[in-house]
Amino acid sequence: MKLMEHQGKELFRRVGIPTPRGVHAASVANVTAFIESNPGSWVLKSQVMMGGRGKAGGIKFADDAKAGEAEARGLIGKVLKNAQNPDGEEVKSLLIEEKVAIASEAYVSIAIDRAAKKPVVIVTAQGGMDVEEVAAHDPDAISKYWIDPAIGFQPFEARRLAFAAKLPAGFHKAFPKVLDGLYALFLDYGAQLVEINPLVLTQSGDVIASDAKVELDDNALYKHPELQAWRSDGPADEDQAAAVAIGLGMSNYAKLDGTIGVIANGAGLGMGTMDAIRTAGGSAANFLDIGGGAQAELVKKSYQLVTSDPKVKAMFINIFGGITRGDQVAHGIVQALQGGDVREVPLVVRLTGTNEKEGRAILAAAGMHPVETMDEGARRAVELAGR
Ligand code: GDP
Ligand code: MN
Repeated sequence: MKLMEHQGKELFRRVGIPTPRGVHAASVANVTAFIESNPGSWVLKSQVMMGGRGKAGGIKFADDAKAGEAEARGLIGKVLKNAQNPDGEEVKSLLIEEKVAIASEAYVSIAIDRAAKKPVVIVTAQGGMDVEEVAAHDPDAISKYWIDPAIGFQPFEARRLAFAAKLPAGFHKAFPKVLDGLYALFLDYGAQLVEINPLVLTQSGDVIASDAKVELDDNALYKHPELQAWRSDGPADEDQAAAVAIGLGMSNYAKLDGTIGVIANGAGLGMGTMDAIRTAGGSAANFLDIGGGAQAELVKKSYQLVTSDPKVKAMFINIFGGITRGDQVAHGIVQALQGGDVREVPLVVRLTGTNEKEGRAILAAAGMHPVETMDEGARRAVELAGR
């Protein structure tokens, strides 16, 4: 789960990493009202998942409520784009933060180094820009430290890192505390990445996290059930949202560019099915994994979703019954077809495993005759889609 900046900063505050004073606002009126009652210089920061908001025009400044209102109007609803995110992302809310006078910008992150099987701390004095850019142009400016998870992280190692990365002296005193908080967050919340870019040294000598990028491992979310609410930021695209809407997982449905709609149970069988279609000379229009133990209702909704894709010229349903029962799948197919609200396309079914006989009988009663093997089904679907 990726967090928005304002969420990441909420976690920063929990572990004692200083962040600028601020408030999360979801409407222009909220921005105006906030600045009216809190005169000063404020930064308006677009809350989106993508990085590089500054360059994409997603960070604005305002010295009074009138300017804040104008900038907020320009930002909320705007689609931010940059080279990494050509499709762009719509701004739905803003983080209003006290503008800090920057003396120096550093970069610090902790990520998992899979090769080393350890968390790695990355630090550079060249903050505020893409760390990839720094790595490409000035690799020596980047310092790394691999944490032994059995031993943990000591303040002297943080001091050593600050020196190695040539952080300006103003950072040195606060840096161990920032890193300590960052590593505590990394462990306690099961993060895959925690990044502060820039970590700012202000002109008054404070060290403060001006930006926050946090990615949590979904498998660690049980540790902090209170964060479940943040999941509603959920599906990143329409297809994921469509899958969630019928009760499946976000990644159970994917659109592709061929002509055959595919429903299978399990991602592995789904990929095998797409390979079989490819071998038979066709290609999948989409792929929906109904998961294990699907009931008739879910099969019916899945069928409706997949056939709603106008690219679909033929359907191939490939079920290997285990926990999933053939009779439930067959009922779902029949219900979907009899419901009348599905687009009619030629259908090929392969049904094997648990309750196969019962499933076949249900299909036969509705005038359908499943094929015997996956390859046969793929060939048949390709043929039907080509007509
Ligand atoms: P990103 O572009 O998505 O990484 O967003 P950041 O939060 O890192 O902001 C981008 C840039 O905006 C920073 O590198 C700063 O140069 C600038 N910026 C953000 N907040 C402040 C602030 O409080 N004061 C000043 N002077 N600049 C800021
Ligand atoms: Mn940043």
